[in-house]
Amino acid sequence: MRYCSQEVNDNDKIDLHTHSNYSDGTDSPAELIRKAKQQGLSWVALTDHDTNLSWEPARKASEEYGINLLVGTEVSTKLRDISVHLLAYGYRPGEELDDLMATARASRIERLQQLTANISADYPLKWEDVKRQVAGKNTTLGRPHLADALVEAGYFPDRNAAFAGPLSTRAKYYVSYWAPTPVEAIKAVKAAGGFSVIAHAFSLTRHVHPHDCDIAQMVAAGLGGMEKDHRDHGPEERKHVKELCQKYGLVMTGSSDYHGAGKPNCLGENTTTPQMLRRILEALDK
Ligand code: AMP
Ligand code: FE
Ligand code: FE
Ligand code: ZN
Repeated sequence: MRYCSQEVNDNDKIDLHTHSNYSDGTDSPAELIRKAKQQGLSWVALTDHDTNLSWEPARKASEEYGINLLVGTEVSTKLRDISVHLLAYGYRPGEELDDLMATARASRIERLQQLTANISADYPLKWEDVKRQVAGKNTTLGRPHLADALVEAGYFPDRNAAFAGPLSTRAKYYVSYWAPTPVEAIKAVKAAGGFSVIAHAFSLTRHVHPHDCDIAQMVAAGLGGMEKDHRDHGPEERKHVKELCQKYGLVMTGSSDYHGAGKPNCLGENTTTPQMLRRILEALDK
């Protein structure tokens, strides 16, 4: 069983997108689950970037604290030069998707080393300073860990300021990393019995977004849903997601994208309806 078999009740409070310190969140999976329970959530999905190694500790904590856990991963994908984040829920680990994510994780390490070297020309830092920010050997590395090192060194007050400066995708230092295409990832999620939802597709914090014809191709590959209510979507973006979901019969979700102290996003600040969660659970391979 890859997800809790509890029934979804009509008054359940559901948050389907959160991060622990197995990627760029700051809470351990157990701390995150405890806080989710404290916030009155009935269901939480832990969706660390490019890993499912946080599932086991999260599962233990969800049993301890009495909260329903939907396991998931926010899979990094790349469409042309556009970064598309794909939430993959309830899939079987150990299949092709794991290989794609392992390649992305390895590429993320080299990329962060190169980015650290580039930025060090103007903001002197050592790779050890970045590694000190990383919670464990299984953590997926990302720019937020370099941001934390820049904050620790006193160059910036917080992650957000570092992202507005040298960590921006538009800064001269930027380095990209390998990721599968959305269609490749969606097919791999489907082959592993899971359900995929595009996260914050039209995020106002990004300069480029997928076009409607890209979404159509993802739907043809087996895309199941789109995240609508997310703090990085304004009214126009939510309307656009809603229209696409209606056009293609997709599940529409809402979630916090909680990162602990790494971002201001609060657990449960956006939620998914019980009806939509039921559709996701019913679509998973039993
Ligand atoms: P990466 O995956 O290494 O390219 O880094 C992207 C990650 O950085 C995303 O998953 C976000 O969670 C995080 N991030 C992006 N912008 C910000 C910001 N302004 N403040 C804090 N975290 C951010
Ligand atoms: Fe993140
Ligand atoms: Fe994301
Ligand atoms: Zn996220």
